[in-house]
Amino acid sequence: MDGLCVTACTRCPKLVDSRSQIVNGTGPEDADLLFVGEGPGANEDEQGEPFVGRSGTVLDDGLRDVGLARSDVRITNCVRCRPPENRDPTGEELENCRGYLETEIERLDPDVIVTLGKVPSEHLLDRSVAVTKEAGSLEEVRIAGTPRRVLLCVHPAATLYDRSQEETFADALAEAAELAGAGDGESGQTRLDGF
Ligand code: URA
Repeated sequence: MDGLCVTACTRCPKLVDSRSQIVNGTGPEDADLLFVGEGPGANEDEQGEPFVGRSGTVLDDGLRDVGLARSDVRITNCVRCRPPENRDPTGEELENCRGYLETEIERLDPDVIVTLGKVPSEHLLDRSVAVTKEAGSLEEVRIAGTPRRVLLCVHPAATLYDRSQEETFADALAEAAELAGAGDGESGQTRLDGF
């Protein structure tokens, strides 16, 4: 691993078989906001970038609605290789990939980490999470020894199965933007846009 980029890893035999490439995080190395998903799906595995399929479109649209662009934030996953048939990563696979995620968090030192869905929420909080109920809550968690602010959010795909999650998702993104002092807020270009 050269810092943020894992170029070779064979720790998870089933994922080595199912992946076509390792999908590393994307976005600025000094971003204030770090979004953490579960793991690459088929589109991500094909394109080598997190959240580029339908979930990615939902995320991009949600970011835009709070005054952020995808290129403003960093986006990564708990595991960097596509699990077979899009199953959840196992506990062992999550642990195998944990060091890469911790290194990314340390290097980035983000203001806020936003967990997209149940898997990353439970992985980083180390407890069970009812993510639809807890979305929007902010917790301080020690990750690799350093206290970090973690904001829980539903997975973007949840809004595709259940329209009632759209507001939950949008509210969490608005909170993330505000916590990071980014996006629409009350200042900056957006306020000037109308002039
Ligand atoms: N879902 C995830 O959790 N991560 C991705 O990169 C894409 C979809």
